Amino acid sequence: LWITFEGGDGSGKTTQAALLEDWLRDQGRAVVRTREPGGTEVGVLIREIVLHHRGDIAPRAEALLYAADRAHHVATLVRPALERGDVVIQDRYLDSSVAYQGAGRVLDAGEIRDLSLWAAAGALPDVTVLLDLDPAAARARLDAADKPFDRLEAEKAEFHERVRAAFLQLAAAEPARFLVLDATRSPEELASTIRDRVATALA
Ligand code: C5P
Ligand code: MG
Repeated sequence: LWITFEGGDGSGKTTQAALLEDWLRDQGRAVVRTREPGGTEVGVLIREIVLHHRGDIAPRAEALLYAADRAHHVATLVRPALERGDVVIQDRYLDSSVAYQGAGRVLDAGEIRDLSLWAAAGALPDVTVLLDLDPAAARARLDAADKPFDRLEAEKAEFHERVRAAFLQLAAAEPARFLVLDATRSPEELASTIRDRVATALA
């Protein structure tokens, strides 16, 4: 079973991925928790490039770097784990590319999706949890948590609005894959809803 978490910065993806991992491990499941960009050794290098040069990489080059990270990640880590029967919990996947490189950078969303699917040889997750959050609320949350680096600040507010709208549109187009949750709910409530969905998918 392959579960991805999507949503804007500060929406709680990492927190929920960790809670889900703990719950699955308590049941004796083999779990691989990973992320994009940066889920492999090569991916860590690509992550450094895309994050440290954010804003000064040509948009198409940025899209290709994310796709390169994805291709290597799926081929060397995700697919082998799924073939072993492990549960894969992943922080961001191709929906992030459609939202950030597509809607955010204003490249063609269909092209970004095709590029991502080519990179991943067509692999799509079983369940995608979208943690939906207003970017203004996300900003307040990151400020309150005193997060050390400029995650949201690197881009204008409109960029994050476009990203949010794109995620919601992707979810509406694939209701069977997506579980859309209001990220302002408590972490415990969110975790419990996510567990129910994953339990159904595992049954
Ligand atoms: O969620 P994480 O902290 O790993 O994301 C790192 C940064 O990369 C985030 O600020 C996110 O906005 C950006 N990103 C992106 N395009 C992607 C994936 C992540 O711009 N496809
Ligand atoms: Mg995170």
